[in-house]
Amino acid sequence: MRKIIDGHVHISRWHPLPWTDPLTGNTRLERGMLIGGNGVPRRSLPSYFVDSCYPVDSLIATLDENGVEKAAIMAHLDSEICETAFEAQSKYPDRLMAAISFAPKAENVEKLDYWCDKGIRLLKFEMRGMEETFPGTTVETPELAALINAADRRGMTLTIDPSPASFPCYRPDCMKTMIEKHPDLKVVICHLGLPYKGIQNDADVYAKWKDMVFLAKNPNVYLDVTAIPDLFVEENFPYRSAMDLFHLVYDEVGPKKFIWGTDIPGTFRTATYYQMIQAFERLDFLSESDKDDLFYNNAEHVYFEHTK
Ligand SMILES: [Zn+2]
Repeated sequence: MRKIIDGHVHISRWHPLPWTDPLTGNTRLERGMLIGGNGVPRRSLPSYFVDSCYPVDSLIATLDENGVEKAAIMAHLDSEICETAFEAQSKYPDRLMAAISFAPKAENVEKLDYWCDKGIRLLKFEMRGMEETFPGTTVETPELAALINAADRRGMTLTIDPSPASFPCYRPDCMKTMIEKHPDLKVVICHLGLPYKGIQNDADVYAKWKDMVFLAKNPNVYLDVTAIPDLFVEENFPYRSAMDLFHLVYDEVGPKKFIWGTDIPGTFRTATYYQMIQAFERLDFLSESDKDDLFYNNAEHVYFEHTK
């Protein structure tokens, strides 16, 4: 039985619905619906999530059911993310590491230190959500750069969702500059750099995507291979063109750079947990030891081993 860490999951607390987050203005509705920045309701969870939440005990039940030892809980920017992360990690300290996130504001460096003192070691930024709430922000924006400096100083791991590859806020150039400034900071780029089916046909986007994922040639940079069912929803299991793109990056950066994960619960809209394991487990270009790295060892190193 292969040991597994899920390197990318989310949780959300219960609220009476509808509930509007005071930081982002997003409104959570019943049965997995969400009203985001553009005012249009969209599905964020399957409809059987009647109260549109996924507390940490539900996550642990999912991990147990699927034989998964540990998980790294990721963060969307929201008003209670630090408290949610701390509660989850404190309740299951042997199984969970949890990320915090902040708005790009100078005073948040102090808050980062506060939560780091309490044991939090992961910092996450989602550049698409950041763009919706704080337009024009990149990893080089001074307020965000200050938070990244602080994460480096405290020996945290930084995880970046760089936004879909075709979006203007997708900035491999800014990521490169930030990464070169922080050679000791472990950086994870999410979702295999967010490609889509047929990306090879859009020359400019494909070039930007390759610039993004090949940042993993830097010794301190990793890629998570999560949310493939969402990104390749029209293709369906086993996501053959996504796996071809994964193969291409694997040949360039080697087996030590990938972290498997699911991005549940949102991905339960389009795939089962078993399918998300099997999409990678069945790849014949990976050796057994490559799969141990992908499913466990790399995540253990990046998300669960911190020297400070
Ligand atoms: Zn995610």
